[in-house]
Amino acid sequence: MPRQAEEAINAHLENVFDKVPEAREAFRLAASDVLGPDEYARFDPATQAISLSRRLFARPGRLGAAYAREVKDGFHPRGTDWRSIVTHEIGHALVMKHALGRPGLTASGVSANLERGVIEKLGLSRQDIARELSEYALNGPQDFVAEAFAEFVDSPAPRRVALAVGQLLLAAFRR
Ligand SMILES: [Zn+2]
Repeated sequence: MPRQAEEAINAHLENVFDKVPEAREAFRLAASDVLGPDEYARFDPATQAISLSRRLFARPGRLGAAYAREVKDGFHPRGTDWRSIVTHEIGHALVMKHALGRPGLTASGVSANLERGVIEKLGLSRQDIARELSEYALNGPQDFVAEAFAEFVDSPAPRRVALAVGQLLLAAFRR
């Protein structure tokens, strides 16, 4: 990881930990050379490791521009930037950590419940999710939760879907 990206991410992590102290113990971070060509990052539930693409994070300027285009296109949540790639993965890690501590729960089950609860509470269609959160959130319940968590933590003005998911996830975690 080049120093420029590493410093930016470390500063970003401190912001995340300020807002969500539980995140501090939920994962470890590593650079990886084995992700797909366009894969920014990956969370491995077995090891609680977040892998960041060494190649893509080697050029934070280029990565930032690519991610910003995706935000503009609605593929990622409004109010997030390239550092939110890490926040998204932390969302996966938090769900996993929550499930691990509670017999009978799985990360996919917890995510599906959260998604269903928020969709019902807000009366959302798929189109609403794409418009009010992100297109990538349609990838499945786990990415729905991770995208919402990224917006909840990183956006200066999180919207109603991100707020609902973030508050429910933290409430579940703190129960
Ligand atoms: Zn994801």
